[in-house]
Amino acid sequence: MIRLSDIECVLLDMDGTLLDKYFDDFFWEHLVPERYAEKHNVSFWRAKEVLMAMYRAHENTLNWTDIDFWSAELDLDIPALKEQIRHLIDIHPDVEDYLRMLRGHDKKVYMVTNAHYKVLDIKMKKIPLGHYFHRCITSGEIGCPKEWPEFWQKLENVLRFDKERTLLIDDTVAVLRTAKQYGIRHLLHKICANSKTAAAAADGFPVLCHFRDLIEEV
Ligand SMILES: [Mg+2]
Repeated sequence: MIRLSDIECVLLDMDGTLLDKYFDDFFWEHLVPERYAEKHNVSFWRAKEVLMAMYRAHENTLNWTDIDFWSAELDLDIPALKEQIRHLIDIHPDVEDYLRMLRGHDKKVYMVTNAHYKVLDIKMKKIPLGHYFHRCITSGEIGCPKEWPEFWQKLENVLRFDKERTLLIDDTVAVLRTAKQYGIRHLLHKICANSKTAAAAADGFPVLCHFRDLIEEV
């Protein structure tokens, strides 16, 4: 168990960690293939096959997070499509109570996301969490995604956190691995990222399913 008194700074991922990944999974695995199929006059399953191969080719790069890249690549208006299903954007339970508790204990609280700044905007308009953070920082600003080891040094240069007294919560194991390699002391793997699918398997990191488990009574 990670004690709040051991932590000075908390780095929180957005998609899958604070927000329900159902939105993103539905978007990329259902809505985009559907629209791609219409546009290119192929079956949904063919579209899905083509898209999955394209997604894989750009995994762990800034392209993957860049919705302007995908708009051009797929000839679809990705931001407009996201707006269309904005009602599906949702927050995981007890996240706000956790953020409020961190601020109440004077912790430094940062959102650190691979999401494109336009997606961050769309999501924070629907679920206004911005005021809980000292800063929301995207990997676009840093210049590489969180899966790259150099991301963490660059982030530390900007935020000046003490990695011995920092906690990172993220639902992507590849991200936890590079953060660990860099030396961030406290790491939690957020499972139950998509509320409508089974929780991810543990992968060597301590797991967190519900934020209420982190809320300490005072
Ligand atoms: Mg995530």
